[in-house]
Amino acid sequence: MTLLPPFFISTIVILFGLVIGSFLNVLIYRLPLDLSIVKPGSHCPACSNPVRWYYNIPLLGYLMLRGKCAECGVKIHWRYPLVEFLTAILFYFGFKHSLDIAQFRIWFFIASGIAIAFIDLDHRIIPDELSLGGWAIGLLTAYWDYRNGFGHLILASLGGFGFFFAFAMIYEKITGRVGLGGGDIKFMGMIGAFLGFGGIWSSLVISSIVGAVVGVAIGKIQKNENILKTSIPYGPFLVLGAFVELFFEVSKWMNI
Ligand SMILES: [Zn+2]
Repeated sequence: MTLLPPFFISTIVILFGLVIGSFLNVLIYRLPLDLSIVKPGSHCPACSNPVRWYYNIPLLGYLMLRGKCAECGVKIHWRYPLVEFLTAILFYFGFKHSLDIAQFRIWFFIASGIAIAFIDLDHRIIPDELSLGGWAIGLLTAYWDYRNGFGHLILASLGGFGFFFAFAMIYEKITGRVGLGGGDIKFMGMIGAFLGFGGIWSSLVISSIVGAVVGVAIGKIQKNENILKTSIPYGPFLVLGAFVELFFEVSKWMNI
């Protein structure tokens, strides 16, 4: 690896990110609908025609098609290239110049986070395959984490889940409304398994602040009488907080 020029390695990482991003688009669309992730191949959701392989190339395919299906001309959502671009960029910035399990953990968390954010936006759910599956992978690979120790990650994972579970129960008892969904709570367990207590803390604080600001803004736009009743998916904000911790270790600045 060290014998290869850095720009070459960076290019490979970005291409790898684009391919994974392309796969995430399939996952985001099909997983919540309980469709197979492998079969059938990519096809236009409007006319069902299969997408030719060269149009399936991440980003380039979208540009070649100028954002429209080659067969029926229906617009391809700009989110497809966005997810590919976002995955590639985050894979690049999350690259620690080694190819080991610690690196795999980082890329796995980035990919899962992107999928969780967009599925929650669309369907208001976080599938168990991602939250529980991701939690399990986080714990199984915790030993090789480069930032936090194994014991710390196990504790943070159980602590994060337990804290949010208790919080959700109390909130529901007091207000009679569901504040945090089960998916969010399981996802906190996964965040703890990957990013430790720092990750739990950052996700909690950043998602509360940004979520509140966005919630009020949407409430105002929709002209809701009771702004507190504006309902927004919480998952994307948890992902935002977790990513900020992953890339900037904000919890360290606060001496957490
Ligand atoms: Zn079409």
